[in-house]
Amino acid sequence: MSKALYEIALLPGDGIGPEVVDAAVRVLNAAAKNEDLKLSYTTYEAGANLFQRTGESMAEADAVAVGQADAVLLGAMGLPTVRKADGTEIAPQIDLRERYGLFASLRPCELFPGVPTRVKAEKVNMLVIRETTEGLFAGRHDKQEPSDEAVSDRLTITRATSEKLFEVAFEQAKQRRASYGTPGHVTLLDKSNVLRSNAFLRKVFDEVAERHPDIGTARLYIDAGSMMFVTNPERYDVVVTENVFGDITSEIAAGVVGGLGVAPSGDVSLKHGIFQPSHGSAPDIAGKGVANPVATILSTAMMLEWIAQQQDDPRCEKVAAAIRQATAKVLHSGPRTPDIGGNGNTESVTQSIVDALNS
Ligand code: ATP
Repeated sequence: MSKALYEIALLPGDGIGPEVVDAAVRVLNAAAKNEDLKLSYTTYEAGANLFQRTGESMAEADAVAVGQADAVLLGAMGLPTVRKADGTEIAPQIDLRERYGLFASLRPCELFPGVPTRVKAEKVNMLVIRETTEGLFAGRHDKQEPSDEAVSDRLTITRATSEKLFEVAFEQAKQRRASYGTPGHVTLLDKSNVLRSNAFLRKVFDEVAERHPDIGTARLYIDAGSMMFVTNPERYDVVVTENVFGDITSEIAAGVVGGLGVAPSGDVSLKHGIFQPSHGSAPDIAGKGVANPVATILSTAMMLEWIAQQQDDPRCEKVAAAIRQATAKVLHSGPRTPDIGGNGNTESVTQSIVDALNS
């Protein structure tokens, strides 16, 4: 049942996070106004700056409140200079993934006309789905005796999470086929020739694939599959893989289509969704006004597509399509930010996308 008003939680975070979230909200408001879609926003502070001031990266009450929103838009969190006692960076976004069981990270990579790529490719439109709650991150909280001789991490695959993950992958292949005319195909990347956990992952994949005979499938080893992102990226539609393999391959895919500045993402469970650019807080360019807002703007389009599915509200689908179209238009005509070969800046790109929506 669609709602009169959708509540969006904003987590701008650190570095360029606030700059790109601000840009994306301007675009979102312009697009929503055209469809008379009502959105309300609540901003929460979280990340490395908050940690430095207070010793916690997100207040417990805020972590709870975020879960009540219809969707969450996150900028970027963490700064290389702010670390916990064990040497790792502050990452409340990983804590939120765990708290809300956001097991699938959806990372679409599309090559838009006007965006330069170093890869010989023309029509790249793929969605990398990274599992985010287990795999090689499964033992993140395991107790370990400190050692200077050997340290291990644990790779665990469960049937419950893998089944949900693959169902999302096949569902995405169907939705993409309906919305964008993509082929309707899912590729599993694994290391099932060596790792027992991955042989099990492939077994579960085969079982789920049998339930979706109208969707094509392929199974590739992660090494060869990674090479093909560069040598033949057009072969991929939906790609699904283990946590760390997905972490790496989704950035290869982003590199193929122009880099992190144009790569959106969404971390989802069956109930909750957090949408954010694939990039981090980019402290090297923070405050300079040159951050590419496109990844975050495209993340808002993903967020609306997700709300459209959850709430059965076609207005959200329409607003998402308008944002995608206006963004594609500006990527083609310019201005573009320096990371994709332009001489524009965050402001000029954002205003041009707003203007394209209003034209
Ligand atoms: P994390 O580990 O938090 O994902 P990272 O170490 O991968 O972060 P990023 O913060 O994503 O690093 O930045 C990597 C490089 O990409 C930096 O040089 C940064 O300036 C550039 N970059 C990232 N996002 C953008 C953007 N939106 N616009 C322009 N350049 C960007």
